Amino acid sequence: MSDSFDYVIVGGGSAGCVVAARLSEDPKVSVCLLEAGGPDSNVLIHAPAGVAAILPTKICNWAYETVPQKGLNGRRGYQPRGKTLGGSSSINAMLYVRGHRSDYDHWASLGNAGWSYADVLPCFKRAENNEEFGDSEYHGRGGPLNVKQLSYKTSLSDAFLAACAAHGLPRIADCNGPDQFGSFLYQVTHLKGERCSAAKAYLTPNLGRPNLKIVTHAHTTRVLFDDAQRACGVAYTQGGQAVEVKARREVVLSAGAFGSPQLLMLSGIGPGNQLQRHGIAVRHDSAGVGRNLQDHIDYAQSWRTHTEREAFGFSARGSVALTRAIFEWRRQRTGPITSTFCEGGAFFRSSPDVTVPDLQLIFVIGMVDDHNRKMHLGHGISCHVDAIHPRSRGEVTLASADPIAAPLIDPNFLGDERDLQVLLAGAKLQQAIIESAPFDGFRGKPLYPVQRDDAALIADIRARADTQYHPVGTCKMGPASDAMAVVDEQLRVRGVQGLRVVDASIMPTITGGNTNAPTIMIGEKAADLMRGVLQDDRAMKGAVDEPCDA
Ligand SMILES: Cc1cc2nc3c(=O)[nH]c(=O)nc-3n(C[C@H](O)[C@H](O)[C@H](O)COP(=O)(O)OP(=O)(O)OC[C@H]3O[C@@H](n4cnc5c(N)ncnc54)[C@H](O)[C@@H]3O)c2cc1C
Repeated sequence: MSDSFDYVIVGGGSAGCVVAARLSEDPKVSVCLLEAGGPDSNVLIHAPAGVAAILPTKICNWAYETVPQKGLNGRRGYQPRGKTLGGSSSINAMLYVRGHRSDYDHWASLGNAGWSYADVLPCFKRAENNEEFGDSEYHGRGGPLNVKQLSYKTSLSDAFLAACAAHGLPRIADCNGPDQFGSFLYQVTHLKGERCSAAKAYLTPNLGRPNLKIVTHAHTTRVLFDDAQRACGVAYTQGGQAVEVKARREVVLSAGAFGSPQLLMLSGIGPGNQLQRHGIAVRHDSAGVGRNLQDHIDYAQSWRTHTEREAFGFSARGSVALTRAIFEWRRQRTGPITSTFCEGGAFFRSSPDVTVPDLQLIFVIGMVDDHNRKMHLGHGISCHVDAIHPRSRGEVTLASADPIAAPLIDPNFLGDERDLQVLLAGAKLQQAIIESAPFDGFRGKPLYPVQRDDAALIADIRARADTQYHPVGTCKMGPASDAMAVVDEQLRVRGVQGLRVVDASIMPTITGGNTNAPTIMIGEKAADLMRGVLQDDRAMKGAVDEPCDA
């Protein structure tokens, strides 16, 4: 294969894998996918419980830090991001959550035609092979992404559901169905006891396609343009060598909420004054690039448990159980190693006048302290609470013109006081749930003192809260009238030709829930849009096209 392709896709993450796989379904179309990380060969990716080891380390992980956060007492936040095929879907907690239908209706109301819930539901369904709910109004069967009930579940989550119900959060079967409000057991992106990342779902079955070239350890440094402002390829480094690859039709940036705005700016598309400060020639002054960063702020509380049997942790008995579990998983892909640790969840409202849930709980069968960077002896449980419709807006800016340098990440957590008040309301319910009767048989001492009055709880939130790993919005989609919109509703970068952004960065507002499924949906939708263009283009040249089997 030559170094010239119809499409060059930068970033083999949740969205990039989808676009590469869908476009290369047409054997007449050639696709090159460039990924800065390596192949997804590490067993810690595929063993679901491996997430606990990847999260705090640099294994397949960019492991970024934020700039000091004023709202978090000046602390630097941690921002893990996947650096391997599958991107963050190869290191995430595998919870399958789409958000609220109004999230998408809101995107459409902002002037993004084609992105309402009714418009995007078919893309969610097409992506999915839902073992439990497939082939229904809300779910699909036969798609690449396998979704199922928890592969491993403890009785601790029965206590969680009972406690939620006692606190006005009724049990619902499906948080991605008709109603989001209530408590539930998460569905997970697993396949036969292994993680089903976007790479596993979309790339692995298609590695034999002669028209799909996947290049790993390829760190893209900038987009190349011809004289007519048309993206015609990208430059990347691989093993210290500078390489260029040409795109005959389009370049697609799928480098994630930090990588895509960084690449746009390195290519001269971004806020003009910032680019000039770094000596980068301005190709298109686009004020919104890197702005509008949104993320879910998360506050976790952990309690020790009396039981070593079900809760994960470090102990002599735990080590024996872990060794057994590893052998079980190696033999038959079952048992505790298929745990995602996060079992139960709930969506609820911070006050009665809120119409759409603005808080999410994630119940975890282990103690989690500082993204697992602080380990504790013993066994325990945690409950995370997230403000899922934050008002704070942050930004990603360039630290330097060096493409290998990490960008400056400023989520501006709790920059808007209203987020703090929402999180405070959520933290009170979080504590009440774990301190209620259904947990009496398990619950031991809290890892950190449980704060009873508002001032002390706020102080603890500022001292310990951080990301729930859902940065989005830094290349937001919007109409021409919105000066901060980076891409149009077809995800085409404004001001140049032949360039799209397809990943979580295009979300104008963050979805109310975890962001992997929405990002995969964005990949599916983008593939539709691109194939539509391709067909129009061919029709104009008189070519006969086979029907698109989307
Ligand atoms: C620890 C963690 C837990 C999470 N848990 C969940 C969960 O349980 N459920 C859920 O729904 N969501 C979860 N998420 C969020 C979800 O995984 C992400 O929102 C989603 O994967 C983002 O997809 P993306 O395509 O935008 O970016 P990514 O998947 O991050 O993909 C970007 C890709 O681009 C590559 N790249 C970046 N820069 C370059 C460059 N210059 N050149 C070449 N390649 C480049 C990266 O290496 C990466 O592979 C979690 C995320 C993390 C990090």
